[in-house]
Amino acid sequence: MPTSPRQPTRSKILVTLGPASWEEAQIEALIDAGADCFRINGSHADHAGIRRQVARVRKVALRRDRAVGILLDLQGPKIRIGKVEGQLELRDGSLLTVVMDDTLVCRDGAPRVGTTYPEMAKDVTIGDRVLFADGLLSGVVEGVDHAGPVPEVLIRMEVGGTLTSNKGLNLPGVRMSVPSMTEKDLADVVVGVEVGVDWVALSFVRTAADVMVLRDELTRLGADTPIVAKIEKPDGVDNIDEILDVAEAVMVARGDLGVEVSLEKVPVYQKHIIERASRRGRVVITATQMLDSMERNPRPTRAETTDVANAILDGTDAVMLSGETATGRYPLESVRTMDRIANEVENSVFFHRTPEERLPRLPEPTDSIIRAATLASKNGQRPFVVFTWSGASAIAVSKARLPGRIFALTPDPRVVDRLQLVWGVEAFLVPRVRSTDELIAAGEHVLLSKGLLRRGEEIVVLAGRTPHHGTTNVLKVYAIGSEP
Ligand code: PEP
Repeated sequence: MPTSPRQPTRSKILVTLGPASWEEAQIEALIDAGADCFRINGSHADHAGIRRQVARVRKVALRRDRAVGILLDLQGPKIRIGKVEGQLELRDGSLLTVVMDDTLVCRDGAPRVGTTYPEMAKDVTIGDRVLFADGLLSGVVEGVDHAGPVPEVLIRMEVGGTLTSNKGLNLPGVRMSVPSMTEKDLADVVVGVEVGVDWVALSFVRTAADVMVLRDELTRLGADTPIVAKIEKPDGVDNIDEILDVAEAVMVARGDLGVEVSLEKVPVYQKHIIERASRRGRVVITATQMLDSMERNPRPTRAETTDVANAILDGTDAVMLSGETATGRYPLESVRTMDRIANEVENSVFFHRTPEERLPRLPEPTDSIIRAATLASKNGQRPFVVFTWSGASAIAVSKARLPGRIFALTPDPRVVDRLQLVWGVEAFLVPRVRSTDELIAAGEHVLLSKGLLRRGEEIVVLAGRTPHHGTTNVLKVYAIGSEP
């Protein structure tokens, strides 16, 4: 099938930093390969690590004169087993005791491990399923013993295997009594705000109230950092609409989701979450194992290639790389590969604009202006120039998934970086001015001087009547450079 000439890739690539990618030279090469935003994984970074990674990304972005986003992903109440000396071999049908003590070290192959979640003995009942190491091993609760100094949970292994230190432990379907933010998360947020990360992601979100805990904490710290709610538990899927009311973005966190629910539900949940988020005008990230085999091989499988393409066809804004770039052997090739797959599918006949009735509903008059702008674009043949304070109107235009480029111009450098997660949006800084006319003139200058538009090219401009926060209520169609 013939393909159209290469356009700039519009889906955003979120790259997880780790030992395989966090040196300055590697960050620079990743940006050149197509990385739009970097994820710092709170599960593996201490405070010095967060500061160091943010400083490096900012330094490289400045040097390359490129806007790059940074997302701090909080670990959340991830349950793990304790330390294991060497490794613990567990046979199918054998018994494993989980002791409610996070200092316990499993020694000499004895099937007794500690856990970071001492409430487990209170929360589980006989017959509950317990999964280890992202679901590679599983068992069923056979008994709970409260007699000793620390309670113990007895598990009959159904699928045995090898356990090593600190592996994840999941209790699918068990209502857990842990708060959504741990002490570590609270401390990490303070550092994240201090160094000015662009997004904060909250793990294991179950309800809107979980998101509000983080929101209140950010407000207390004087920050308006947007929140990504990670959907990785069945409650999060069930409560997706109330979560979307309060979070600016969601992540389909397929790693833990695929352990918390049966695997065959993951594709359907992915489509459901993306659809709900798109209808609500929220940003969506699809994450985990997208190019998993590229942790070891320089080329992905056909199934992985198709998975990335399908997430984009589903309507995701960003696709995420995790182990592929954090610890894998081919971080650069992974980003390049993802970029090529995204570019190909976006320019294929299968990539459709969003039907008018499926566009998100916004407050008036912004809603009417956005709808009118999509019409005025002549099916996206005219580029959009969106003047925005919060980025919201650029996100709304992006949801139409039109072929026309979307230039977002804002006087707020934080918004420029935040928009790096949003499909199709190319964001630039404009100076603060006093009137809308001055703003438009400044914007035209930026776009013409960067060679992004040619004088005389017809554009669709969206702006507010006054250059202050508020509604989008101006729509103009004209040839750039021709207006006084
Ligand atoms: C996931 O579970 O898919 C995910 C992105 O979360 P994490 O990698 O932080 O466990």
